[in-house]
Amino acid sequence: MRICLVLLALAGLALADALPKTETLRGTLQVHGSGPATVITDDHRTIALDGDEPTSKVLADPRLNGFSIEARGHFTSAGRFLLDPSHLRSLMVRQDGKLKLVTYFCGVCNIRAYIPGPCACCQRETVLELRDPDEK
Ligand SMILES: [Zn+2]
Repeated sequence: MRICLVLLALAGLALADALPKTETLRGTLQVHGSGPATVITDDHRTIALDGDEPTSKVLADPRLNGFSIEARGHFTSAGRFLLDPSHLRSLMVRQDGKLKLVTYFCGVCNIRAYIPGPCACCQRETVLELRDPDEK
């Protein structure tokens, strides 16, 4: 037990030491039925993606499978990347050569959300919309 505690303390120190320098990860998103989404980088590495709850929900959306993405965050190990919080717009999707925000729109209520699923108002399924980040 004591050894475990020492190891935990050491791990904590190591984490604090290597505090996140933000990097941009680019590659092709692969959404899986179970388990975290992965990115195949341009140099053919497979990186598992972690994020906060909204980010994890977006990363589980099969409609985004195969998109070229840019993710900001930092590596937590050689094969794992933790995205910055979603309100920092840490996940962008490339469409027609431009980086877009992932949004979900209900045309009935004119409500836009940033996580997939039913509309908060009418409960209808929202439509995936990739939006220019500068668009109001
Ligand atoms: Zn609605």
